[in-house]
Amino acid sequence: MAKTETTRFAVIEQERVVKVHERKIPELKADEVLIKNGACNICTTDYGQWTGARKNLKFPMAFGHEFSGTIVDMGSEVKGFEIGEPVGIGYDNCGKCEFCKKGLTSECVTLGEGRNKLSPDGYHGGFGCSEYVVKPYRSLFKMDPSIDPSEAAFVEPVGTVCQGLRKLRVSAGEKVVVIGAGTMGILNALALKAEGCDVLITEMMEKKLKVARNLGLHAVDVSKEDPVEKVKEWTDGRGADAVILAVGVTAANDQALEMVKHLHGRILLFAAGYPAPELHVDSNLIHYRKMELIGTFSADLCDFKKAAELISEKKIDLSKLVEAKYPLDQVQEAFEAAVVPGAYRVSVVF
Ligand SMILES: [Zn+2]
Ligand SMILES: [Zn+2]
Repeated sequence: MAKTETTRFAVIEQERVVKVHERKIPELKADEVLIKNGACNICTTDYGQWTGARKNLKFPMAFGHEFSGTIVDMGSEVKGFEIGEPVGIGYDNCGKCEFCKKGLTSECVTLGEGRNKLSPDGYHGGFGCSEYVVKPYRSLFKMDPSIDPSEAAFVEPVGTVCQGLRKLRVSAGEKVVVIGAGTMGILNALALKAEGCDVLITEMMEKKLKVARNLGLHAVDVSKEDPVEKVKEWTDGRGADAVILAVGVTAANDQALEMVKHLHGRILLFAAGYPAPELHVDSNLIHYRKMELIGTFSADLCDFKKAAELISEKKIDLSKLVEAKYPLDQVQEAFEAAVVPGAYRVSVVF
């Protein structure tokens, strides 16, 4: 293969403007791998910056953290990978700090500014929506070659789901409610089913209800039925063992508190909302009901490993969650498609 010197990549320059730029591919360090990108999916965080909803992210943003590709070159200290292997991508980590040594890679001391990290050539972000991407080998996870790159790009979001379920300590046979059937709600529901849980998902948008039902999920239409009543019926009046909030709105928070079982109920706050939702909870209730309110965000090494397995072994069906595919040159159109209400992941393909 001819040696590639430069790469084209997508940049959110300002609100509503995303363009293709070009840069020199950074020289590989000993522990780094060069990946030829297969697909980069546009996450809620990405289009939230594009629409202006997420003001915490800086411009110009070389966005993209949900991507997958094939290894085309590697440094001398890379272990456990071969050129030509398909990989999904987790988060960068140093592998050396006290957190990384324990596998708590999401707490790595080198993460610093996170997605606002500034490159020497003046871009924020991780350059995931780029023809070629340089990554430390520690953030890669092997994928089965039969997996479509747009689906292999789900290692990151599925990893965050795996962390959430790990923190929620779900076990087979438990009855778990997921509020919201957007991409993350559906992923939570599919991963719960893979764990052997009994799942009920609530949603108000017709399109999302249809997708949930096509995936074999027990979905309740909250525009027609009272979700709290439906959960009570479903659990013979007891309430759910756990509730996952996959939407960040105050009304959903209120519902979760009513849906969860009276004693030892667990609620996972999976989603953020902008503006920040409120949580109306009497702390005496948490005490007397022995309730657990659990926060989750991002993922650790073990979560990404599990996500890569779930996807590679086809234990979760991602086919309905890829809404549309666009080439890099149409990245502006891709963002326009990603913000259509009810859209699942829009994928930029290379
Ligand atoms: Zn994401
Ligand atoms: Zn570290």
